Amino acid sequence: MGLIDAHLHLQDSRLAGEFESILSQLRQAGVTRWVVNGTSPEDWSRVAEIASDNPEVIAGYGLHPWSVNSFGLAGLEELEYLLLQDPGAVVGEIGLDKWIRDHDNELQKKCFLKQLEIANRLGRSTVIHCLQSWGSLRDCLKEVPPEKPFLLHSYGGPLEMIGDFLDRGAFFSISGYFFRDDKVKKLAVFDEIPSDRILLESDAPDMLPPPELIKLPLADGVNHPVNLVRIYASYAERVSFPLDEVIAQIAGNFGNWYQANARSKADERSVIE
Ligand SMILES: [Zn+2]
Repeated sequence: MGLIDAHLHLQDSRLAGEFESILSQLRQAGVTRWVVNGTSPEDWSRVAEIASDNPEVIAGYGLHPWSVNSFGLAGLEELEYLLLQDPGAVVGEIGLDKWIRDHDNELQKKCFLKQLEIANRLGRSTVIHCLQSWGSLRDCLKEVPPEKPFLLHSYGGPLEMIGDFLDRGAFFSISGYFFRDDKVKKLAVFDEIPSDRILLESDAPDMLPPPELIKLPLADGVNHPVNLVRIYASYAERVSFPLDEVIAQIAGNFGNWYQANARSKADERSVIE
C-alpha cells in the first residue's frame, strides 16, 4: 500500500527545473497518489497535462482565493469545462483568505460559493483553503452545503469549529509545516479530530517543514514533495501507531474523501445542457 499526498502543486514553476527527477523520487519512495491542485486559469492546463501523463495524479481544478482579484467570476467559465473533460478530477484549490493583502471578501465568497455549486452539480469532492476566514467559511458551507466530502487542507482553524465541520463532512490534512516548534498549538488541534478524518499532505512547493522532516532539499526554501515520507513517519510517531497501520488508515480515509467520477460523462453533459 502506498503513501498518498492529499495536497500539492506539481505544476508550480519552482518545481519545473527538477520535475522529472521529483516524479521518480516520489515513485521510488512509494508515494502512489498525488492530488495536484490547480489555482487559476493560468495553471489549469499544466495540471491537465501532468494528470494525463501520470496515472498517480488526481487533478484538482479551482480558482484559489489569491487569484480571485485577477480572474473573478469570469475565471470560472473554463473551470466547468475542464471538470467535464476529466470525470476523475476534484474541485480545488478553492476557499477564503483574509490574510492575503488587498483581499476582496465579497468577491472571494461569490467565487467560493459558485465553485461549491459546481462541485455539487458534478458530484465532486472539494479541496478548501482557509486563512483567517473561519466564520465566513462556516457561513458559506451552510449556504451551499457540500454534497461530497471536502478537505480542509493544512487546517489552521479553531478547535471549537471542528465539530461543525465534521458534521458537514470535513476531512483535515496535516502538512509538515505544522511539525515546526512554533506550531505546536496548531498541531495539537489535530489530536481532537477523529483519526478516520485525517489526511496527510506535502503542499509542495509551499509549507516547508522543519529541517528534521526534510528528506530531500530543493533550492531556497522550496518544499520537495518527497518530504511527505517524513510527514507520515512523524505523524505515526505522534499518534503512537506502527507506520504500516497509519499508511493503511490514511489510504482508507482518502478513499472516503475522494469522490469523483460519480456520474458518467454522459450524465454530466446532460446536467449542464
Ligand atoms: Zn495548496
